[in-house]
Amino acid sequence: MSSLAVCPGSFDPVTIGHLNIISRAAKLFDRVIVLVMINPRKNGGLFTAEERVDFIRRSIGDLPNVEVDFSDGLLADYVVRKGAVAIVKGLRVLSDYEDEFKQALANKKLAQNVETVFLVTETEYMFLSSSVVKEIGYFGGDISDFVPPAIKDDIIKRIRER
Ligand code: ADP
Repeated sequence: MSSLAVCPGSFDPVTIGHLNIISRAAKLFDRVIVLVMINPRKNGGLFTAEERVDFIRRSIGDLPNVEVDFSDGLLADYVVRKGAVAIVKGLRVLSDYEDEFKQALANKKLAQNVETVFLVTETEYMFLSSSVVKEIGYFGGDISDFVPPAIKDDIIKRIRER
């Protein structure tokens, strides 16, 4: 039986820090679904769900075992429905930890057969988040080192429209 992992997140927009976690997950599991979700604690967001999915699809070109999907429901329901064995999250700094720990415990309660697996960020991506990309872009800074080249121009265009 093939193993399926889900990498959930807001991906508003996807960064090379996210891609690092996704490509490492793709080596550990037979199949990976990158799941764009709506985080009720992050209000709104800059990109629509469709744009976020499209950006990720265009960024993962050479990863044949990775798919992209969207869900506006509960992560635990999604992973059970798909038969996933793991939820893969990236851990950056200590401040990620408390929140991720709570989410992992809640998901374990709701989906008992699904493990949360944390991949520790590589040092060069420690500071990188979607918010950092949006802030740098908003003030006209160069985001080339932070986002996949295929989507850079679309991200800048949208930030400027705001
Ligand atoms: P953010 O808006 O903070 O970038 P997301 O909700 O889109 O976060 O993140 C999805 C997942 O990717 C989370 O598990 C998050 O910890 C992880 N992640 C985001 N950026 C990085 C990074 N630079 N290095 C490692 N993991 C990351």
